[in-house]
Amino acid sequence: TKETAYDYVVVGGGTSGLVVAKRLSEDLSVSVLVIEAGDSVFNNVNVTNPNGYGLAFGTEIDYAYQTVNQTYGGGLIQTMRAGKALGGTSTINGMAYTRAEISQIDAWEQVGNDGWNWDSLFPYYLKSEHFQVPDEERTVAAHLPFDKELHGLNGPLKTGWNYEQTNSSLTSTINSTFKAIGVPYNPDVNGGNMVGFSLYPFTTDSTLHVREDAARAYYFPYQNQTNLKVLLNTKANKITWSQNSKQNAATAEGVEITSSDGTTSVVKANKEVILSAGSLASPLLLELSGIGNPAVLSKYDIETVVDLPTVGENLQDQMNNGLSFNAANGFSLADKTSYIAYPSVSHIYGNETLLVAENIKASLPEYAAQVAAVNGNVTRASDLLEFFQMQWDLIFTSQVPIAEVLVYIVNGVWTTEYWALLPFARGSIHIGSDSTANAVINPNYFMLDWDLQEQAQTARFIRKMYATAPLAGMVLDETRPGLDTVSAAADDAEWAAWLKSAYRSNFHPVGTAAMMPKEKGGVVDANLKVYGTSNVRVIDASVMPFQVCGHLVSTLYAIAERAADLIKKSA
Ligand code: FAD
Repeated sequence: TKETAYDYVVVGGGTSGLVVAKRLSEDLSVSVLVIEAGDSVFNNVNVTNPNGYGLAFGTEIDYAYQTVNQTYGGGLIQTMRAGKALGGTSTINGMAYTRAEISQIDAWEQVGNDGWNWDSLFPYYLKSEHFQVPDEERTVAAHLPFDKELHGLNGPLKTGWNYEQTNSSLTSTINSTFKAIGVPYNPDVNGGNMVGFSLYPFTTDSTLHVREDAARAYYFPYQNQTNLKVLLNTKANKITWSQNSKQNAATAEGVEITSSDGTTSVVKANKEVILSAGSLASPLLLELSGIGNPAVLSKYDIETVVDLPTVGENLQDQMNNGLSFNAANGFSLADKTSYIAYPSVSHIYGNETLLVAENIKASLPEYAAQVAAVNGNVTRASDLLEFFQMQWDLIFTSQVPIAEVLVYIVNGVWTTEYWALLPFARGSIHIGSDSTANAVINPNYFMLDWDLQEQAQTARFIRKMYATAPLAGMVLDETRPGLDTVSAAADDAEWAAWLKSAYRSNFHPVGTAAMMPKEKGGVVDANLKVYGTSNVRVIDASVMPFQVCGHLVSTLYAIAERAADLIKKSA
């Protein structure tokens, strides 16, 4: 017999959704339902293999969303990957566990989200984490950088280093090289100060040698709890609304779902509906439920329930490019570690930093006007200017990292993937039909001058790194892009031609249901409740108002942990 009413209905059993569901179900008197479009991937080797990054791409557990042609980004269509599985995108991601800068989480409160700052979020990073402390011998041999005080030891999510990293051989070489170009060693990237060279931990089970995803951390150990139910292979279509909605606030009655057998029904929510479908799906579900821009909704005959035009706006992602060099004499080809550096603007621009700072500052009003014009002033230039000034401060005053540089050896080739961390571009995602299919996704890659400059200057910085001892002695010629393609003295325009032909999404889309005051274009308030509703929240990457310098999951687990406490408190 099918139960049709639960206290909380969580849409999306992914990275964030499973945290919320598990925590809410700790109160055994409360019933929680999770609706998940994908299946269990507990035994899927494309998921479990801790060195299997990329194996799941293009398989049935990868949504592989397609963007529209990128006007500023070489006219290309980009693939934005996301996991369709219990555990969501944490089942296919790169497993990197790096948090954010103190000042950039503090910016969330500065913009008007009361209670969201580094000090209030930090305990939740720790609450979610089970840091597996490596044994001393390995720590010393591999220079594993960590400060135990900055890690949680008792949370559900296992983090730590994989076998390959604890056998790394190049840490000193790469550390010395970065030092020579001004980038210091960072003894732990997860304490809110990210600048420097480091070796980051992974979301991994160091004992079983399997990927640690959200389902392994937050669901499978609790799956026998009778008040926590998961419906797999089940798609949420939209929120249904109660006829007795409170005045001025729409009240969700439940969620319309389509089961694996094709039948459609409604599951009721006695208390709340929580959207955790990810930043490329939750805003679509809001629109399909009548929350959004009436001009978008009316195209598909959707009646407006809450007029909230910024749903789906503020999309922020990064561009990923790569440089490669042949290795000298097969040097250290057995090394299977990835090394990272987070340089600041001063590391990347050196003596030019002040000049660049002034130029960018002078450009901010124009950037804000451009972004507003492109989205038809749905987000206002005056609000964007405030956000951009905050971001400028992070870059040039707080000096947060402005690039992630990832170095590893693959098939005998030194490979460096990198992404400028803080482009100013904003894009959008909206429905393109009366279902989640055919969404119109537009990140506006390379939209603004800074976005290109930052990406080009980081490429020059990487060339400099490979030309600096001791690393310089281990590499031969540059194979990607190669000096024939982009000359040694290339200006931004020459770099642009190649960068825009060879980039991909960095798979870090955020902001599409941004947590901000409503008058500044926010979609959810500081309790993550959707404006104009009495019982609908969004809890996933959509709510992050601004991009962060770290990879996303550590921060998403922390947000979801804190959100679960906010819900418990309000109940
Ligand atoms: P998700 O985890 O995507 O969860 C959304 C869930 O909702 C999914 O399970 C989905 O199937 C379900 N869903 C969607 N629509 C519906 C519907 N209509 N009905 C029912 N269910 C639905 N971050 C890191 O920290 N480190 C990394 O190394 C890293 N590498 C990455 C590599 C790749 C290839 C990608 C794509 C991302 C990477 N990220 C990384 C980013 C990070 O993994 C994601 O930002 C994060 O997992 C997103 O979490 P979420 O809770 O917002 O959404």
